[in-house]
Amino acid sequence: MAEIVASAASLNPFAIAQHQFDTAADILKLDPRLRAVLREPVRELHVSLPVRMDNGDVKLFKGFRVQYNDARGPSKGGIRFHPDETVDTVRALAAWMTWKTAVMDLPLGGGKGGIICNPKQLSERELERLSRAYIDAIAWIMGPERDIPAPDVYTTPQIMGWMMDEYSKLRGHSTPGAITGKPLSLWGSLGRDDATARGAWYAVREAARVIDLDLSRARVAIQGFGNAGTFAATLGIELFGASIVAVTDSNGGIFRSNGLDIDQVLAHKKSTGSVVGFPGSEAISNADVLEVDADILIPAALENQITARNAPDVKARIVAEAANGPTTPEADTILHHRKVFVIPDFLCNAGGVTVSYFEWVQNQRGMPWELEDVHRRLDRKMTRAFGEVLAAARQHNVDMRTGAYCVAVARVAEATRARGWA
Ligand code: NAD
Repeated sequence: MAEIVASAASLNPFAIAQHQFDTAADILKLDPRLRAVLREPVRELHVSLPVRMDNGDVKLFKGFRVQYNDARGPSKGGIRFHPDETVDTVRALAAWMTWKTAVMDLPLGGGKGGIICNPKQLSERELERLSRAYIDAIAWIMGPERDIPAPDVYTTPQIMGWMMDEYSKLRGHSTPGAITGKPLSLWGSLGRDDATARGAWYAVREAARVIDLDLSRARVAIQGFGNAGTFAATLGIELFGASIVAVTDSNGGIFRSNGLDIDQVLAHKKSTGSVVGFPGSEAISNADVLEVDADILIPAALENQITARNAPDVKARIVAEAANGPTTPEADTILHHRKVFVIPDFLCNAGGVTVSYFEWVQNQRGMPWELEDVHRRLDRKMTRAFGEVLAAARQHNVDMRTGAYCVAVARVAEATRARGWA
């Protein structure tokens, strides 16, 4: 049975999310009725979006919005545009958002959205029409008090701006609190752009204290060079003086033992579209980056990257999961036995949703904050959550992921019970 679960889990992100939840539910000896409620999304909407293309044709896109659990507050979670999107990926991500808002102790639930599309093959006008069509289709289940989307893979502040505008038109008044991750001109929060990576580095700082690692000498490898990955690179240098030795994007990657000049790598990516071919670097693959000689590995791309096959070869002492779901359960076990300190995704990358929450608070009150306030409050939230997860992991003698699940599931279970849902 365990093998069947493991093989299903290695294929399906939602099976992984349920498997991880079950582990925590067992440890917490969760009431079977609560367990049944918390194992499934409370609501999901499947939409078909007819979009007029620039050549006059109409193309149909499939999209989803999943609200996993809103016992603690309105659902919160990003929207992905990706050709390989599946409803099970969105369900898993919505579940992780629920645990993420709970582990950070935010007054929010968890949700996620996605559209099956390749944004790289769409013009800006087509992207705008698709974004607006998605909001037209899901508007009746979203809003500042119901469900607040945000950016995720291949969605940008501009896309959030169009979406907020579409939602506001439908409501007949400006509603900035309906979407976070907006451009600053539409009352996005200062500090939202690098919040995921900054939060991850605050968590890495705490982990480094636990394992006694000097960050100013640390070598860092990063898989994925989008929002989370690029800021992870620049902030690693800026905040701690770490050395970034490897980065990759969807086309491949680069390695330089003495550290990469990240400003120049960014300029190279801007002019060529990829980090690949950066002068003075060795070419590596997206698989190689997980195994390079580094103290800290930051997966910042997609799910299921660290598996039973490559986990024995991970050299890093800290794996900081900026991406959602980058490590399979089998790999988790291997890394735990090898004493690799894994900072689990829904703790490590919670800086994004935390500053999204700050943005929502600012929008609802009509009162913007200074950047220093955002950084200070984010640091406090991340440090506190890290400490609570570490304490739970030590109390139950489990890894950090299971510790994080214990903290989060207990909070959501208590709210679900208090509402009388189970
Ligand atoms: P992004 O779209 O800005 O960047 C994605 C990066 O991944 C790009 O560099 C792309 O080239 C790379 N990539 C795509 N396919 C790949 C593949 N097969 N192998 C290796 N690299 C590949 O996305 P992002 O916002 O940086 O999100 C990255 C991860 O971080 C996702 O798992 C996302 O859920 C998670 N995350 C992001 C935020 C946020 O605030 N942006 C918050 C929490 C979690």
